[in-house]
Amino acid sequence: VISKLPQTGTTIFTVMSALAAELGAINLSQGFPDYNCAPELVELVNKAMQNGHNQYAPMPGLMALREQIAIKTEKLYGAVYNPDTEITVTAGGTQAVFTAISAVIHPNDEVIIFEPAYDCYAPAIKLMGGVVKSLELDPPDYRIAWDMVKRLINGKTKMIILNSPHNPTATILRKEDIDELSALVKNQDILILSDEVYEHLIYDNEVHHSMARYPELQQRSFIVSSFGKTFHATGWKMGYCLAPAYLMTEFRKIHQFLVFSVNAPMQHAIAEYLKDENTYLSLPDFFQQKRDYFREGLKNTRFQLLPCAGSYFQSVTYDAITDEKDSDYAIRLTKEIGVASIPVSAFYRKGTDKHVLRFCFAKRQETIDKAVDRLIKV
Ligand code: GLN
Repeated sequence: VISKLPQTGTTIFTVMSALAAELGAINLSQGFPDYNCAPELVELVNKAMQNGHNQYAPMPGLMALREQIAIKTEKLYGAVYNPDTEITVTAGGTQAVFTAISAVIHPNDEVIIFEPAYDCYAPAIKLMGGVVKSLELDPPDYRIAWDMVKRLINGKTKMIILNSPHNPTATILRKEDIDELSALVKNQDILILSDEVYEHLIYDNEVHHSMARYPELQQRSFIVSSFGKTFHATGWKMGYCLAPAYLMTEFRKIHQFLVFSVNAPMQHAIAEYLKDENTYLSLPDFFQQKRDYFREGLKNTRFQLLPCAGSYFQSVTYDAITDEKDSDYAIRLTKEIGVASIPVSAFYRKGTDKHVLRFCFAKRQETIDKAVDRLIKV
């Protein structure tokens, strides 16, 4: 066959997790918890299955769940989404991202992304015949130079993809960024895809600047979130998308033929579980403690810590240790000391290597201890 994505290989998450498994290394590469999700949540799924909720959910998602999502969104960000027309439950964040891109990107439309960028954006844009325009950001702060973004905008610009808290860099959008963004898109026909799957993982009492907070941005945005991240259950592949009705109508045209609807018993369970706001409001404390613990440990190593304002990723540079490429070094660390990480060059289309490795700290304390003990020896 003629490949539709000739430049695309296997995602780095699969590659590094497989290597970690093969070598029995501590896997701090792909982002997922190594502890179980709440037993109450598992019990709610059991109950839903026993109660016979084992057939198709409605195409856009269970209404009870969409209603809870609407309540949460209004409570947190003040935005009112109509569960009937503006909320769709998806098979994880990645499906929502793909569906949103395929719903609105036509051949030759330009989409602006910021690199390092999560690895599913560019392939989805290309599959639709779109053109990726990227702005590379640099450690340690990965700040967006908005005047550079302005230079990328022209009549073909259809969408800007944002991701806050950001994977892999753990940065967050600040109010200044929102102001710059608002000024840029004002009176322009530019949509926003806002990947907010780490919306609840934000530290040091910072605010999550969801697009939902800003009406002039909200009305042009697809906002993606993830129950996998929020409820420590990445294997459930449950997420959702919010968008104004004119966008959600198009989104659902694709969604219905991509997956039709998603896992019914889990939707029942999550709808019930979301009624207790503490299930997500407790996350900043929970993860900040892990972040601080991991950072403390890393201070005893020769790695240099980059800032971590959100997400469950901590990046480091390693110039005091070696000048190897990050992709080589990540493999060597996995083999030689048994700790797997993600080389951040994987998130630049050009493979730009700034000598940065990303570690996931959504782990039990004993896992963090063990990993740090090994990293100290480097
Ligand atoms: N979001 C996860 C990460 O960044 C990976 C998810 C996946 O493997 N598709 O590590």
